[in-house]
Order: sequence, then structure tokens, then C-alpha cells
Amino acid sequence: MQKQDQNQSHNAALIVAGGSGVRAGIQQGRPKQYCPVGGQAVLWRTVCAFLDHPQVHRVLVVVRAGDEILYEEAVAGLASAKLMRPVPGGATRQLSVAAGLEALEPLSPNAVLIHDAARPFVPADCIAGTIAALEFFDGAIAAAPVTDTLKRGENGRCAGTVSREGLWRAQTPQTFHYRKIADAHRAAAQAARTDFTDDASIAEWAGLSVALVENASENMKITTAGDLAMADLIASGGRAQLADVRCGTGFDVHAFDEGDHVALCGVEIPHSHGFKAHSDGDAGLHALTDALLGTIGAGDIGDHFPPSDPQWRGADSAIFLAHAVKLVRERGGRVTNADVTLICERPKIGPHREAMRARMAELLGIERERVSVKATTSEGLGFTGRREGIAALATATVVFGG
Ligand code: MG
Repeated sequence: MQKQDQNQSHNAALIVAGGSGVRAGIQQGRPKQYCPVGGQAVLWRTVCAFLDHPQVHRVLVVVRAGDEILYEEAVAGLASAKLMRPVPGGATRQLSVAAGLEALEPLSPNAVLIHDAARPFVPADCIAGTIAALEFFDGAIAAAPVTDTLKRGENGRCAGTVSREGLWRAQTPQTFHYRKIADAHRAAAQAARTDFTDDASIAEWAGLSVALVENASENMKITTAGDLAMADLIASGGRAQLADVRCGTGFDVHAFDEGDHVALCGVEIPHSHGFKAHSDGDAGLHALTDALLGTIGAGDIGDHFPPSDPQWRGADSAIFLAHAVKLVRERGGRVTNADVTLICERPKIGPHREAMRARMAELLGIERERVSVKATTSEGLGFTGRREGIAALATATVVFGG
């Protein structure tokens, strides 16, 4: 059985998804390789490009430790025997590739195709071209000739034009005879060389021959948030998808009671009173939780966390909001905005506004600029005017698809 397995596994794709995607910005609280383009995660598209290729027999993804759930979500539904269990990566791309190569050791494939998760549109002929070149070379990389004129800059000024003659942009896949690149990586590790930015440079350092396989077609690498938007357009067949934008509202009131602090919008504020409430009484987070539930028609906070349930006594209302965020995400929603208005005479909200925005942005997994906290009095009228309690209004915007 073991032997048969080895024969069937002669080419393996090693997809590196270990990055944090910082340059693309954290979209929906997740690295770029897990963001959807054209309705499917970037990584799903990348994995499919190799699963569907007749010359690739195993696909292994290296994921960042802690991203295992994102990985499972991204590849859900890909029931292919070619797809191996993911392995955790290292602190750098080089270490992540090394971890993947070690994991492939029992299979001992003929060729290994090392590929960036962030290149979801790699064409089949590009994959085949790098494999074909192994007949004559130790390795082969997809590459494109540099077409822009190159300038050397000094203090923001042109200090000369650099010839682009013979210059190529290295892409992936970077395909090698497995044994040779695995040995080269081990040698680099033993020599404490950690500065390689791609596998071809390790191969060159180790004295291996590496072919350039010209790839003229689209093989974009998603690096910035703009790339992600462009990739979405490409994956949608050039049609901008109409987003499903939903707005939910919430309203909550809590009466003051004895105490010396209140929780509002996730921040504890010293006050002459506390809240009369079963949980911590955070009317701001309760209203926002209801607003999020409103975008998915999922009832209200009381349906999910009944006041009659003793386990929520004194509970941190962040739990309620986090639950609503989870439900929205599970339905494919992306929170894009939250706006909370607090209505009270006291405590004064202004000094705590930024802390509230920061805390809610954290709980929602979005940037602070997408979160707003406003405060108003009711001009002395009604229960808020009589300082008997606080009212909170919230709206949340969630985008589905698109
Ligand atoms: Mg409440």
C-alpha cells in the first residue's frame, strides 16, 4: 500500500499560505488568502488550480499556526484524495517552505511545485511548463520579462535608467526535483541563511540550475487591498458583483441602580450608579448586538441569551456581541460599519469615546474608522433626562457577497 501510494504521488504541489497578509490589510478580520474573490476564498481557487491539474498528484498547504479554522472554511467542499492535511508554517516564508518539504519527505515525490497561496489564477499551462523544464534543469520558475522602464531613485529623484535587458519578474510555481530542493533548504538552514525571498534563490545558492519559464498570462499576486479588489473583478468575469448590503438597527435601555461604575460600549466607566441588569447592562453593546442580528433575521439578544438563564448573570456583554458577529460571518456577511448613539445626561461619554470605538472595532474585527460612537442628552426630558437610566441606539451595516 505504501509503495503504491508513492508511485501515485510523483508530483506534489506545496502551497504556502503562511503569511499574515498584512500588506493587503486584514479584510473581514482575516489574511488575504482567506478572503473571497468572486465568491470563493483566494486559497480555494489556488488549491483548485493544482487539484484539477492532471500532472499534480498531491496538494499540501502550509498554514500559519492559528489559521487552521480559516483553512478548513476555505477548502470546505473540496473532497479530493489529492489534498493532504495542512501543516503549520514557520516565522518566515523560507521556514514555511522548509516545513512543507519535510512533511512531503515520506511521499518522496519526483517534483515539488512550490506556489504562493496569493496567486489564485495560475494557468494550467504555466504549471505544466515548469514541470516539463525539469527534464533539462534542476528547477524551473514561472517568470515574466520586465516591461516597465526601470529607474534608479535617489532622494525621490531619477538618478539613472537601469537597463531592463535580461531582467525577469519571478513568480510561482517554482518547481524542482524534490530531493534537490529539499537538500538545498536543509543546507541553507544549516548555514543559518534565512534571507532568501524565494526558492529559486536558495536553489541558485546551492548551485542548482533553474530555468525561466515565460508566463505571459495572468498570474497576479495579491499583495495589496487594491489587488484583492482587482482579483475579485477578474474572478467575477469582469462583472462587478452587486453587493447585498443590509442594515440592522437595535435599541436598548437600562435603568440605573446602586453602584459605582457602568459598562458602556465595552468600556468600564466610573459613575455614581451602576446598571440594573441581568448581565453587565451594557446598553450600547446590547443595541449593537441586536443591530447585527437584524441583518440576518436572527431574532434578538434575548432569544440567544435569555435573561432567565443564570449563566449570563453579570456577564460581559462582549460575549453577546461576539456571538452575533460569529453568526453574521457564518452566513457569509462582512461587517462594514457600526454606529452607536448613547442617550444620557451622565456619565459624560466624550472622554471615553475613543476607547469605546477601539473596543467595538476589536470585537467586530474591523478598522476603528468604521465604528462610531455618538452621545446626546434628551434635554432633561423623559427618563434619560431625569437621569434614571440610559438608552442606546445602534445601526450596523453588513455586506454579503460582492
Ligand atoms: Mg439590555
